[in-house]
Amino acid sequence: MNIALIAHDVKKEELVNLVIAYEKVFASHTLFATGTTGQKIAEEAKLPVVRLKSGPLGGDQQIGALVAQNEMDAVIFLRDPLVALAHEPDVTALLRLCDVQCIPVATNIASAELLVKALERHDLAWRNVVHRYRYERRSGTEG
Ligand code: PGA
Repeated sequence: MNIALIAHDVKKEELVNLVIAYEKVFASHTLFATGTTGQKIAEEAKLPVVRLKSGPLGGDQQIGALVAQNEMDAVIFLRDPLVALAHEPDVTALLRLCDVQCIPVATNIASAELLVKALERHDLAWRNVVHRYRYERRSGTEG
């Protein structure tokens, strides 16, 4: 499955620690991240990450575009709840698109851990059905 990982600066260490703690779970999925978050995960958790642009430079929107195309299966976005950011509209848009597509999204470490445990239990396996259906439609192998 495709998992998006984003953390604002004060939350980056928390996210990296989560990835390290659940390395086996994360290692069995394809990880996408905004620029700086992805760099830290790659360096400190040593897992491959598809790195997009930094959040303030459009990375949140790039992840939003993948969500809009139903190509992201879960989003962990550890936000800084105590500061206003210049790219707040991008953050709001990404969360709205998660609701549009019914994509599980966690915005703090407590809900993020629950989401990872759900991944570990394969609770999101229904998403594989979506992927298989989309693949079959693309390759004309349905039926
Ligand atoms: P960053 O972006 O991973 O490049 O820091 C995160 C964000 O601010 O949305």
